[in-house]
Amino acid sequence: MTADPSTINDTNDMSKTEFHPCPICSTPVPHWARYPKSVCHNCFDKACDDQGRKLGFYNVSVGGGFKAIVVETGEENENHICYIESVKCWADEARFGGIVIQPFES
Ligand SMILES: [Zn+2]
Repeated sequence: MTADPSTINDTNDMSKTEFHPCPICSTPVPHWARYPKSVCHNCFDKACDDQGRKLGFYNVSVGGGFKAIVVETGEENENHICYIESVKCWADEARFGGIVIQPFES
């Protein structure tokens, strides 16, 4: 059996994937019911701490976990709060791995 996987994926993804606008910049983001306000990749890459230092987020292991790293210094912390375009956001591990960032709601 040979099938062109890219063709299959295109068809399925376009018809079944829903999108929501990125809460920061309005770019369409694949919609997960569990993370209805997740930000797009672009905004994810802009996440900074409250001092404007760029943050990277990682899973602690393949089993999950959450870790934030100040990119400049390599300083690690477990602070979930970050800022994207001055919008206060909350980063956390996603249910199926990876990291999700959504605007913070108090
Ligand atoms: Zn965005």
